[in-house]
Amino acid sequence: MTAPHHLLLVVAGIAGEASHLVEADADAAQLSVLDVAATRGDGIFETISIGQGHPQALEAHLQRFARSARMLDLPAPDLTVWRDAVLALAHRLADHDEAWVKTALSRGVELPAAGGPPVPTGWAYATVSPQFRRERTEGIDVVLLDRGLRSDVSATSPWLLAGAKTLSYAVNRAAVREAQRRGADDVVFVSSDGLLLEGPTSTLVVRRGDTLTTPPDAFGILPGTTQVDLFAAADQWGLATAVEPLSPDDLRGADAAWLVSSVRHAAPVRSVDGAPLPVDAPLTATMNGFLRDRRS
Ligand code: PLP
Repeated sequence: MTAPHHLLLVVAGIAGEASHLVEADADAAQLSVLDVAATRGDGIFETISIGQGHPQALEAHLQRFARSARMLDLPAPDLTVWRDAVLALAHRLADHDEAWVKTALSRGVELPAAGGPPVPTGWAYATVSPQFRRERTEGIDVVLLDRGLRSDVSATSPWLLAGAKTLSYAVNRAAVREAQRRGADDVVFVSSDGLLLEGPTSTLVVRRGDTLTTPPDAFGILPGTTQVDLFAAADQWGLATAVEPLSPDDLRGADAAWLVSSVRHAAPVRSVDGAPLPVDAPLTATMNGFLRDRRS
């Protein structure tokens, strides 16, 4: 079946009661060149995976959207309207096993002549997910890259917005290009005080024995919705969970590790800076089956 790609709903009048959905033509231009989303990356987003028409971890994504808005001093998004937008888009992709919806909210159009605060702009769109067979089964090669921020950055320098899902992902993209220059696929960021953080678009999960561990959000990393769902299910796979600091040696000596995220799901790490890491194929398949089949 042909993919109904780039469906677009524009969410207008974001703040408070006036929020409503407007259907927009995805092939026509929608954003103003004066929108600070385009000129400054000043806004937030969420990417929500859709399994056969069902948004996955939707409430957690909406809550995180609101959290990012607070961190950027944006008006609180009306989550009822955003939920409707996601559900409407997801419904149209029900014929596809895997798809995703993106929601974005920018501070809005900056009108230098008019003055006054910009009016926020919001939009949501959806498309079919690419194939991730290789990443989910064979695994990914990662490199450790220094993020240049201490693990207490959220407390010392909240204006750096560490752990907010902002539209300014140029640094995250640059890190992936650096990984590719080094012959790898992806990145695990390390804090300047030597603690493992997260991937540029994913959460790190490490298995040591029967315990899955992920680093604390307090280190200025995005609280991952996929990791939370996996940890909630771990018990049924006979695994304990822990949220605690991890060092590069913890990763290098792990029994298995994954970068987990909403659309790619669980990608097993098969090497770190060129040194092989075991891939736990059965657990990876179990995780990905569970993530794919979520209905909420
Ligand atoms: N960390 C960062 C920086 C991300 O951008 C993402 C998702 O894009 C994640 C972690 C994983 O979050 P989630 O599992 O909610 O997709």
